[in-house]
Amino acid sequence: MLIAVNYHYLRDESYKDGIYPITKAALNKQIKKLASRFRIIGQDEIHLVNSSNEDLCILTFDDGLREQFDVGYQVIKELGLKAIFFPSTRPIQNKEYVLPVHLLHHIRANYDTNILLELLQKFSTIDQKNIYEKAKAQYRYDHQLAATFKYVYNFELSNVQRVSYINLLINELEIDLSQFNNDLYMTERQISILGQEGMIGSHCHNHNPLSSLSLDEVRDEMIRSKQILESIISVEIDAISYPYGGPSSYTDDVLSLANDTGYRMGFTMTRGLNSKDAKMMRLKRFDTNDVYGGKTDLLTEMLKEQ
Ligand SMILES: [Zn+2]
Repeated sequence: MLIAVNYHYLRDESYKDGIYPITKAALNKQIKKLASRFRIIGQDEIHLVNSSNEDLCILTFDDGLREQFDVGYQVIKELGLKAIFFPSTRPIQNKEYVLPVHLLHHIRANYDTNILLELLQKFSTIDQKNIYEKAKAQYRYDHQLAATFKYVYNFELSNVQRVSYINLLINELEIDLSQFNNDLYMTERQISILGQEGMIGSHCHNHNPLSSLSLDEVRDEMIRSKQILESIISVEIDAISYPYGGPSSYTDDVLSLANDTGYRMGFTMTRGLNSKDAKMMRLKRFDTNDVYGGKTDLLTEMLKEQ
């Protein structure tokens, strides 16, 4: 059996909304606890899920954030372990660009969600009641307003509407994108260091929910990010983490395309244990909040039901 545990922001500050970081101390504690129950493996051993009787665990870090290199990699190294870091490649390639998802996290951490929802109404008519059921399934830990906002933005707006909305926010809030990029993302050199240790996978290029794109666009996302990362680290990229990763963000076609474009393992954010019959392109994953010391302990519940 294999479990995967995913991390995003690793910071000491706390925010009112949008950013839910865990501290270095909490990360260290959680990983130690996981390591006492599971054997922590690197991506070269993930194929063992289909044959081994061991209880295995892979640690993953999505989005290519600089703090994941500064804090996450340091903790991993100190404990003598491996992990996979999944950067999206557009902000690595274009240093004046910040992924909308991260701009939104930052803005939501600092502004009232009501204001953002009001601005969103300019782009889409929202029936908030019906949307909330779907939103809740995708965003387990957000309150109603926040989940609604994220769901409408990510799944109801067209790509064109999302771009206009983001541009409106950048202008109104006077955000310096190159400074923001520099503070937020790993450098090519950091990615290269992780790559040499077999710890890099792809999180696509633009970080869009793949189910919202045409299959040609999905193929382009997968191939382009793979090529960019391989040109930085000179090592073949085998693993992909589907952006967002929840049940609304991928389809069977998306998973087969990942396989067709050269990936050998794919991570969703569907919660659960991966047993011997696990599909390599559809691996389940927990969030840090679902395991020891998180907001719920879904992992322990699922281990009991096993
Ligand atoms: Zn992501």
